[in-house]
Amino acid sequence: MKAILITNDNDTYNAQLTEVAEDQLPEGDVTVSIDYSTLNYKDGLAITGKSPVVRKFPMVPGVDFAGTVEQSAHPDYKPGDKVVLNGWGVGEVHWGGLAQKARLKGDWLVPLPDRFDSRQAMAIGTAGYTSMLCVMALENQGVTPNDGDILVTGAVGGVGSVAVSLLAKLGYSVIASTGRREEAEYLKSLGAKEIIDRSELSEKGRPLGKERWAGAIDTVGSHTLANVCASTKYGGTVAACGLAQGFDLPATVMPFILRGVILNGVDSVMCPREKRIEAWNRLAKDLDISHLEMMASEIPLGDAIATAKSLLDGSVKGRVIVNVNA
Ligand code: NDP
Repeated sequence: MKAILITNDNDTYNAQLTEVAEDQLPEGDVTVSIDYSTLNYKDGLAITGKSPVVRKFPMVPGVDFAGTVEQSAHPDYKPGDKVVLNGWGVGEVHWGGLAQKARLKGDWLVPLPDRFDSRQAMAIGTAGYTSMLCVMALENQGVTPNDGDILVTGAVGGVGSVAVSLLAKLGYSVIASTGRREEAEYLKSLGAKEIIDRSELSEKGRPLGKERWAGAIDTVGSHTLANVCASTKYGGTVAACGLAQGFDLPATVMPFILRGVILNGVDSVMCPREKRIEAWNRLAKDLDISHLEMMASEIPLGDAIATAKSLLDGSVKGRVIVNVNA
């Protein structure tokens, strides 16, 4: 089978497209023939070695995939079932989706909702599933469309694009923050009402600012997240999932102790199975499928290494689907 393989021999970090014998696949009770994978920010970090995402070598990267069960000793799955995989350390400590096959624990898989085919599932990918978890976090904290605007940072990125689309479809008024003003029309076509420049949020700010949004989905971290919290309305919620600007959080407690702002962390990797199934079912119900093609581009497996570098430069728009059989 074809796979991207990352090696780290004698401190030389290398990722290449290569042929791997199927008997090299790791342990697991389900073998999946992969249709599509994607490139997420974390895959960019893994392929380039920019952050220590990969913790075992050699490693096949790819934190997600969609495909068809080929062999199964798991009671919930049989050959021919369509499945989707996100996280659980796949692509980090267990061989991942940037390959034509994967073997892993069936407990990690989610049945693919009927509404999506494998390609659409990967247009959504881990980024889109994380966006849904963020929207669910806002809802669980009681944020409703009547409460006011919702901010999405890193809006042209994968998580951001799906978040804008989902929130708009659910009736929220969305402010999209981006460094790419030239993508304003794209963001408006996904449903953003207003676009702001990310420079408004990316520098060190004041402990408290004007109350601007009832809630936010932040994919950026660092000063941006601190400023997002500082301008969240009384009792509002910020769902924080990303670190594209940085993993630091140079904030004060003021928004939390004076305005009761809730900072709700969102993790997709170890998220319990029931919540994942709920998130995928919600995506099937609430995502405007016609937006997927606007957000997604497709590359063959052989282009994954070069595209991973562009992803970290911030020059990739929306979601990148990887056709592992092309
Ligand atoms: P993308 O690379 O697709 O998007 C990131 C976006 O962040 C960019 O498009 C850009 O948006 C913005 N950005 C990039 N650099 C900076 C910067 N220096 N300052 C401010 N904004 C910046 O990544 P994803 O959408 O796949 O992921 C977004 C984040 O979410 C990542 O940090 C990723 O690790 C994290 N993530 C976390 C998950 C979890 O389980 N918690 C799951 C999935 C992702 P624009 O061009 O609009 O300014």
